[in-house]
Amino acid sequence: MDPGVIPRDNSEAANKKGKRDFVKEMQGGVKFKWCRTCRIYRPPRSKHCPVCDNCVDKFDHHCPWIGNCIGRRNYVHFQCFIHSAFLLVLAGFVLPYVQFTLYAHKHGENLIHAMGDNGGCLLTCIIGFLGLLPVGGLSVYHAYLAMVNRTTNEDVNDVFKRIENPYEQDTVANCTQILWPKPRRSKLLMPKPVQKETAVVSAGITASAEGESKKKKRAKKVETVELQVNETAGEESSPGTPQSNGKNSV
Ligand SMILES: [Zn+2]
Ligand SMILES: [Zn+2]
Repeated sequence: MDPGVIPRDNSEAANKKGKRDFVKEMQGGVKFKWCRTCRIYRPPRSKHCPVCDNCVDKFDHHCPWIGNCIGRRNYVHFQCFIHSAFLLVLAGFVLPYVQFTLYAHKHGENLIHAMGDNGGCLLTCIIGFLGLLPVGGLSVYHAYLAMVNRTTNEDVNDVFKRIENPYEQDTVANCTQILWPKPRRSKLLMPKPVQKETAVVSAGITASAEGESKKKKRAKKVETVELQVNETAGEESSPGTPQSNGKNSV
């Protein structure tokens, strides 16, 4: 999944050599930093990932376990993944322990003997126990980051040590922003095909409108021709008859 890659600028203007401002103020006074590799001014919170070799919007970190960057578009999926992984290892540790206790109680044995009799459960319990600390630690850490509205990159580099975090709101709003983000279309995709459809539809509407206006014009022409014919016919039949007679006959 695209984490929010900001496409490179391969235009001639961007590739021209020369001095450029490292920071550029965009509309609203927001400062964009220049990326020498992508040849673009990237928005705040984005960073160039050296592994993916791309600028990523709201860069969190590059995850070697899933082999992808974590950014604005996939951070919610990463949060769900890390918390569900924690629940899995927790269940992997607790459920075998419950099984040992029940088995020991049923057969009147102690816990060590129960573990020896349930080899598979013992293995699951050990794996669960080993995973508890690293996965649990990550889960708690990312829950904390969501609550204070910080990315891993910002937290590790102490970006908000001297200045106040401008993105931080109250805890509920911060979590809502992370867990229900606005759907964003990948910038790597081609322009929306809907535009073509709209163009076709609008072209169809104009064509039909043109057709209708042509029909109306033709009908008007026919009307006037008929009127003229009737008038001339009326004139021919009775020269003194008023024009209203001709109109009424139409
Ligand atoms: Zn870049
Ligand atoms: Zn990356």
